[in-house]
Amino acid sequence: MSETDLILENVLFEKVAFIGLGLIGSSLARVLRAKGLARQIVASTRSQSTLDQALTLGVIDAGFSNPVDAVIDADLIVLAMPVGATEVVLRAIAKHIKPDAIITDVGSTKGNVLQAAINVFGETLPSGFVPAHPIAGAEKSGVMAGKVDLFRHHKVIVTPLDSTSSDALAKVTQMWKAAGADVMQMTVADHDEILAHTSHLPHLLAFNLVEQLASRADNLDIFRFAAGGFRDFTRIAASDPQMWHDIFLANKKAILAAIDGFTSQLDHLKTLIENDDSTPLIGTLTRAQAARTHFTHMIEKTPYLEAVMNNSTTPQQFIVQPGGSMTGTLTIPGDKSVSHRSIMLGALAEGTTHVTGFLEGEDALATLQAFRDMGVVITDPKNGEVTIHGVGLHGLKPPQGALYMGNSGTTTRLLSGILAAQAFDTVLTGDPSLTKRPMERIAKPLRLMGAKIQTTGEKGTPPISISGGQALEGIDYLLPMASAQVKSGILLAALWSKGKTTVTEPEPTRDHTERMLKAFGYAVDVQGNKVTVEGGGKLTATNIQVPADISSAAFFMVAAAITPNANVVLRQVGINPTRTGVIEILKQMGANISLENEAMAGGEPVADIRIQASKLKGIHIPEDQVPLAIDEFPALFIAAACAEGQTVLTGAAELRVKESDRIQVMADGLHILGVDCTPTPDGMIIEGKGNQGAVFGSGTIESHHDHRIAMSFSIAGLRASGEITIIGTETVATSFPNFTVLAQQAGLTIKVQ
Ligand code: NAP
Repeated sequence: MSETDLILENVLFEKVAFIGLGLIGSSLARVLRAKGLARQIVASTRSQSTLDQALTLGVIDAGFSNPVDAVIDADLIVLAMPVGATEVVLRAIAKHIKPDAIITDVGSTKGNVLQAAINVFGETLPSGFVPAHPIAGAEKSGVMAGKVDLFRHHKVIVTPLDSTSSDALAKVTQMWKAAGADVMQMTVADHDEILAHTSHLPHLLAFNLVEQLASRADNLDIFRFAAGGFRDFTRIAASDPQMWHDIFLANKKAILAAIDGFTSQLDHLKTLIENDDSTPLIGTLTRAQAARTHFTHMIEKTPYLEAVMNNSTTPQQFIVQPGGSMTGTLTIPGDKSVSHRSIMLGALAEGTTHVTGFLEGEDALATLQAFRDMGVVITDPKNGEVTIHGVGLHGLKPPQGALYMGNSGTTTRLLSGILAAQAFDTVLTGDPSLTKRPMERIAKPLRLMGAKIQTTGEKGTPPISISGGQALEGIDYLLPMASAQVKSGILLAALWSKGKTTVTEPEPTRDHTERMLKAFGYAVDVQGNKVTVEGGGKLTATNIQVPADISSAAFFMVAAAITPNANVVLRQVGINPTRTGVIEILKQMGANISLENEAMAGGEPVADIRIQASKLKGIHIPEDQVPLAIDEFPALFIAAACAEGQTVLTGAAELRVKESDRIQVMADGLHILGVDCTPTPDGMIIEGKGNQGAVFGSGTIESHHDHRIAMSFSIAGLRASGEITIIGTETVATSFPNFTVLAQQAGLTIKVQ
């Protein structure tokens, strides 16, 4: 196909007439021209010089001083002049428009454009009339300022009317899409209200601040010393005053309402400063700071962490070179489970809780944001330190909208228990991976306690809707599965329930919630596999030191266990007995592991863990160890492949509903790397290839965006014969933000791409 054919095929309009050809109009005309969307482009402007420039630039084929001459025979008319001129222009051209012509505009306000059209055409508007507003611009104006890519990656709001024909709507939409814009629809009223807050108010404030400072006697000094903040804030005050004058008057009602909202919030801040009201002041500032990014993540369903976010739009992979060593003393990031709970209980406690060693990972940040959304003042984590100004068990406030859980199952299940007992309604949503995780397992027992909770996704998955104001009653519940998250959700709901709640576990699971409740002064009775909590108590703020995460440490334990001459010390790792399954299993396989410097931190036992190279043998993993090592199996499968003989795992069906189906995904990866293994419904059989030489071949592994799968196949590189590429590793930051840095430090050659 020749270039001419291509252009002719793109033709949407025979003749397009622009009324007004400044920044916006001429940019759109440039797009029509560049994409071959119109056979003829004409314009009418106030001044001849604009038309001359446009003709010289080749943006239009003909120019007219009278708009009537421009619109004759046009099948698209674009009103691209100031909104205040709409009625006059429409009145002038009305009788000369083709009956089936499409009329659209680019005005920054829509209510007054609609009113102008009604004034001219009456209540029966032409079916070709489609108001629209590109949310793109610049501080420059005029035909010379136009750019063909002005609208690319910007939003265009189209506000179709009841009278608008589907053909006109489709063509206008297609035209803006061709400009590279993201086209969305809303009503005229919604448009004007939203824009009043997001665009018109900020411009008004910028003009106002510059005027306020300019009218001071010391204005020269003020502008001489004006720093970056002033310049950033007032950049938009350089916009065209005439245009903004028109917009402010055109959207008067909505702008006045926005100014009222602004004034009352400003008065509130003023009072906080007057009264030295430090906690609510920092609360307002931290919430505002987080809100800027938080809402973007919610809208785009992306993670919180910048690192994760950047990489989630550009997929990330690890490339691991074969061989390497494993030595040194490493500090592993804080425990994820303890980090979550420190925020939750700190928020519900009376007084101020300081946390150190907090894991600034994606999931714990979701928990932090959820409590901020419910009015709790929490400072930003810096070097693992967070301060939480607790509001007590009855101090949470209703959030403004749905609470966003990112991809954190822990946050969702534990928070369900807390929210079931609140006086207000809540909705919990998350990213696409969370919306596949089963939530009925927590909803069911909460319903038995009297909660009104609905899993509104297909198959009992999120979003979760919780109705507040229910009086909960204690229950005696036998957990059908070994899940610390479900147990914790129930125990947390029990804090507000009448009487006692007892949870009986089929096998012991992580007891971080029980330990931390005790650390916050709440009585918890543990008898064998039964945990009992009575409602009506209170939590008292305390300081929490989060231990290093044994689940993250596990990758380095396995790495050292399979690498010749390895000797690694992992500092102050949490060795909570409900989490040490990985140590026990590795020891049974023959690993050389010892604990040094044992101590207690925030109710949790910790120790330095030393691992040295040794010969591993295959074992049948005792089922009683399975819940104690549930997150560590992907790493343990790597150890099993490097052992002498067969390793059999049973009783681990839970692995199939983690961030990925960890049994299938690990089996697929192991097969690619040449390891003989058989996945079973509740586990895996792995034929170990022995303690000598390379065990894994080379290949490309799909991690299914599961952080633990990605890290497991990374350490396989230590015993591989060739390069291993792992795809979809951006989620590693959810639990172990500096994994590749530590792995490099210890002697693995791993690159992030
Ligand atoms: P601009 O660069 O100043 O261009 C305005 C154009 O309209 C000029 O060609 C001007 O003619 C013509 N014009 C002015 N008054 C007129 C009248 N009474 N009758 C007929 N034509 C008239 O303005 P712009 O930035 O393109 O803005 C145009 C429209 O886009 C406005 O409605 C604005 O609300 C909307 N908008 C602007 C932005 C932005 O950031 N600039 C963003 C989104 C939407 P001359 O060339 O002869 O002066």
